[in-house]
Amino acid sequence: MLTVLCFISCRNHKILQGKPHHVTRFLALAQVGNPDKKKRYLYAFSVTPMSSMDEKELTQQPPTATNCPYTELVKSLSESQEETGPNFFFDQRTLDSAHRKQKRQQDGGPPAKRRPPPQPRGPCWFCLGGKEVEKHLVVSIGDHTYLALSKGGMVPEHVLVLPIGHYAASTDAPPEVLEELGKFKSALRKYFNSKDQSCVIFERNYKSQHLQLQVIPVPKIPSDALRQAFIDYGRSMGVGLETVPRETPPSELAYTGVPYFLAEFDDGGNVFTRIKGRFSLQFGREVLAAPLVLNLPNRINWKSCMATKDEETKAALEMRKNFEPFDFTADKDD
Ligand SMILES: [Zn+2]
Repeated sequence: MLTVLCFISCRNHKILQGKPHHVTRFLALAQVGNPDKKKRYLYAFSVTPMSSMDEKELTQQPPTATNCPYTELVKSLSESQEETGPNFFFDQRTLDSAHRKQKRQQDGGPPAKRRPPPQPRGPCWFCLGGKEVEKHLVVSIGDHTYLALSKGGMVPEHVLVLPIGHYAASTDAPPEVLEELGKFKSALRKYFNSKDQSCVIFERNYKSQHLQLQVIPVPKIPSDALRQAFIDYGRSMGVGLETVPRETPPSELAYTGVPYFLAEFDDGGNVFTRIKGRFSLQFGREVLAAPLVLNLPNRINWKSCMATKDEETKAALEMRKNFEPFDFTADKDD
């Protein structure tokens, strides 16, 4: 409860490092209706827009100004591989980048040069141009992403959606990749819905080199029940999953490099957690293997679900044929 009225001014730059910026002023107010007249709960401001102030006036530093209390916190968050909890926050770098982009467009300047995808540190099984990728599992290829049968899938049509180039996680992927991942997700939902199935899509950015969206069809189960199954199982394993709005861009959920788990359902919010400490690599499969979902306790570990190459090739061809009426990539060659 705030019980005193006072201004605190915080610097938005470090002393003797770079140009001074305007300060941020914080005002604490007392509880509404409190009997002490010295403790004000209402305060009227006379505000001058920053755009109409001269620079000297704007950057004047009150003698009581302190350092920004959040600088070290933001720095430690961006540098740390360990997260501080499942709190929802916005990535300031994303906002800065959006502001720079907007300014460039307003100034009529050229669009920013697109950086090529980062290269993997070693052999990658999922870079489509790499030697290690198992091409016989590929079902469909878009401009930026592709669809492949999962090796050791839980069920016959357990598929993966992946970027063609190397991105470690959705938080690293550029807009065109995210957009096409969204098209595959939407097409797959329509496909499984036509077979009277739901599907669960999850991403584990933890001990995983290349971004993979696991798409697993399940019986027609309300999304609320599936979401709760994830939350309950997470709780039993000491993993705090929270519901986040469905359309939240991944970059607003976690900084690049922060490990996380994200699952989405046919409708409603997604469940998300930043991973700290130990986390089961089979977490998503463990939830879906439960009696109330797939009831497949023997198919949790992909290594025990391996098929022969001939069986995999046949299954990929079958999936390609079945999915074709829903495949948006088929339109691009017309
Ligand atoms: Zn890769």
